[in-house]
Amino acid sequence: LRILGIETSCDETAAAVVCRHEDGRGETLSDVVLSQLDEHSAYGGVVPEIAARAHVEALDGLVEEALVQAKVSLSEIDAVAATAGPGLIGGLIVGLMTGKAIARVTGKPLFAINHLEGHALTARLTDGLAFPYLMLLVSGGHTQLVLVRGVGEYERWGTTIDDALGEAFDKTAKLLGLPYPGGPAVERAAQEGDPDRFTLPRPLVGEARLDFSFSGLKTAVRQAATAIGPLSDKDVADICASFQKAISRTLQDRIGRGLARFRAQYADNRVQPALVVAGGVAANQEIRRTLQALCLEYGFRFVAPPMRLCTDNAAMIAWAGLERMAAELPSDPLDIQPRSRWPLDMSAQTVLGSGK
Ligand code: ATP
Ligand code: MG
Ligand code: FE
Repeated sequence: LRILGIETSCDETAAAVVCRHEDGRGETLSDVVLSQLDEHSAYGGVVPEIAARAHVEALDGLVEEALVQAKVSLSEIDAVAATAGPGLIGGLIVGLMTGKAIARVTGKPLFAINHLEGHALTARLTDGLAFPYLMLLVSGGHTQLVLVRGVGEYERWGTTIDDALGEAFDKTAKLLGLPYPGGPAVERAAQEGDPDRFTLPRPLVGEARLDFSFSGLKTAVRQAATAIGPLSDKDVADICASFQKAISRTLQDRIGRGLARFRAQYADNRVQPALVVAGGVAANQEIRRTLQALCLEYGFRFVAPPMRLCTDNAAMIAWAGLERMAAELPSDPLDIQPRSRWPLDMSAQTVLGSGK
C-alpha cells in the first residue's frame, strides 16, 4: 500500500509518499519539507496569515516533488492522508483541500489525520515499536504525555495548562534578546552558563496529576532579568542554563510519574516498556539526557526518532493514514472540515463531522 501524505498545520509545508509492506513494515519513499522559518523569524513567531499564503504557494510543487522522488504517479497511490487539525486554520484548509482534490480526481480514499496522531505513531514507522507505549510530545504548540494503546486509541495523561515547552523557550529567548526560534539559541547560550546561579520555579513538581505548566518559568526569567538591568553575555548564559535546569528537573518529576504509572498499569507486560519523544524540543541535548537517564532508572527503552521525523513532516501523516487503513478504520468523507482544535482522544468523525 502506498499513500500520499500532506502536512500544513503550522509553519512547515510538507508532502511525502510512504509505503506499508505486507509484513507491516513502513518505508518512506519520499519526504519533502519546506520550512517557513525565514518568513516568520523577523516577527519572532509564526504569523498565521503569512503561513497560510506560503502553504498555498508551496504545496502543489511539493506534492509533485514527493511523487517524483518516490517514482510514483498519482494513479499509483492507494490513498491520500492530509492533516485536518489541530493547528492554524488557514494552513489546515490549504492542506486538507488539496488532499480532497487529489482524492476526488484519483477516486482514492481520503484520511483526515490528526497531527498529534502523526507524532504518536512515528516510532512505529522508524522503529516498528509495538503497542502500548508512552509518547512525550514537546513542540512549539504542544506539550503532552500520551498513552498510545493502539491505532486510534490514545489517552492523554498530561498536558500543559498554559505555555507549550517550545513556546517557553521561544518567549524566554525573546526576553533575553536571543534570535527566533528560541530553543536552539537558549541551548547554545546555556552551554557557557552557570545552572545554579538562579533558582527558577519548577511548576507542579510533586503533584500527582501529570500536567505541565511553563508560563511561571518565563515570568521568573523576566523578573531575574529586570533585577539585573542590562544583561551581559554571562548573565544571559547563566539565565539560560538555570532555565534549562529548571525544565529538566520539572520533566524528571512529571515524566518520572508517568513512567511509574505506565509500569503499574502494564505490570504483567513482558516486553520492555518504551518512551518515545517527538517535537522540536526533543533536539535539546540536556532534555534528551534527562529523559534518557529517567528511562534507564525506570527500565524503559528510550526511543528518539531522527530529528527530521520528530519535527513536523508529512511522512508521519502518511504513515498515520496507512496505520488507519491497516487497522481497517474508515476513510473520511470529502466534506470533512478542518479543525483548529482537535483533541487526540476524539475521532475525526465525532469532532470533524459535528459542523461548526
Ligand atoms: P507543532 O507544535 O504544531 O508541532 P511547531 O512548529 O511549533 O509545531 P516543532 O517544529 O516541532 O513545533 O518545534 C519547534 C519548537 O521547538 C520551537 O518552539 C523551538 O524553539 C523548539 N526547539 C527547537 N530546537 C530546540 C532546542 N535545541 N532546544 C529547545 N527547544 C528547541
Ligand atoms: Mg514547526
Ligand atoms: Fe507537530
